[in-house]
Amino acid sequence: MSAEIIDGKKLAITFREQVAQEVAQFKEQSQIVPHLTAILVGEDPASAVYVRNKQRACEKAGIQSTLKRLPAETTQDKLHKLVQELNADQSVHGILVQLPLPKHIDEVAILDVVNPLKDVDAFHPENVGLIVQGRPRYLPCTPYGIQQMILSTEMETAGKHAVILGRSEIVGKPMAMLLIQRGLGADATVTICHSRTQNLKEIVQSADIIIAAIGKPEFVTADMVKPGAVVIDVGINRVNEKLVGDVAFDSVKEIASAITPVPGGVGPMTIAMLLKNTLTAARIL
Ligand code: NDP
Repeated sequence: MSAEIIDGKKLAITFREQVAQEVAQFKEQSQIVPHLTAILVGEDPASAVYVRNKQRACEKAGIQSTLKRLPAETTQDKLHKLVQELNADQSVHGILVQLPLPKHIDEVAILDVVNPLKDVDAFHPENVGLIVQGRPRYLPCTPYGIQQMILSTEMETAGKHAVILGRSEIVGKPMAMLLIQRGLGADATVTICHSRTQNLKEIVQSADIIIAAIGKPEFVTADMVKPGAVVIDVGINRVNEKLVGDVAFDSVKEIASAITPVPGGVGPMTIAMLLKNTLTAARIL
């Protein structure tokens, strides 16, 4: 039997409508307009599209959005100063530094400057520490969206083996932290795989939940998937002008019990969670 397709687009619409309602209520009560400022350095076309989509989503939810666009040759110092200015600007609640930054810029040093209260991506070490300790201020948008997708399926995660492919700070590592927490949609036994993992195929074959976040087109094939597994595909790869995930969708969907498509899966949920975090930031500040 073919897997249930977890419709991230539809779920994201529900979340965005809910955020829009909450934003309207918040504005009425506080007279404050939640405000996200995004910083985009350089001309990377994919990053420009991501930022535009995030801005549009903000506007639709009643969140003010500002874009600070800087040329690729911007210096570390200049970017550092801009972040400090935004930290000090009381009208700005969320600061988003679109990654990747140009190679000459020390990305970690810039993310460390963002005021943790305005860090709606949850990349600052203070926010990462809070997540690790199980008392998050913000959750990083992609793992947050995946958590909500898992909850929407009402599947049992407690005691299940979740295998995460990829150990990035943005997806793999925080996803693992969310899945090992106590509580609903969590309590899993987690394995993280990366490019140095041995016996990767065997490990994935033992997974009840697979989260693929490596950026390799159709890497997870049907022979790696246990019948009935839940498969979450984070990957976004452009192959011959077409977007494909890290999972061979057509064959894996015949084996899995539930699967996310690409596009229309994790991506839209990531944006919806950014809106939620921005509203939270406006409430905190
Ligand atoms: P990174 O490039 O930061 O990390 C990739 C990870 O995959 C690394 O840990 C790497 O291992 C691991 N990896 C690479 N090749 C292999 C392999 N052959 N076997 C096992 N592990 C491997 O990627 P991100 O986490 O930022 O993104 C992953 C994918 O998700 C990308 O396609 C990205 O575009 C997409 N993405 C989608 C989002 C969405 O909203 N849908 C949001 C964020 C990302 P090692 O550490 O050893 O190098």
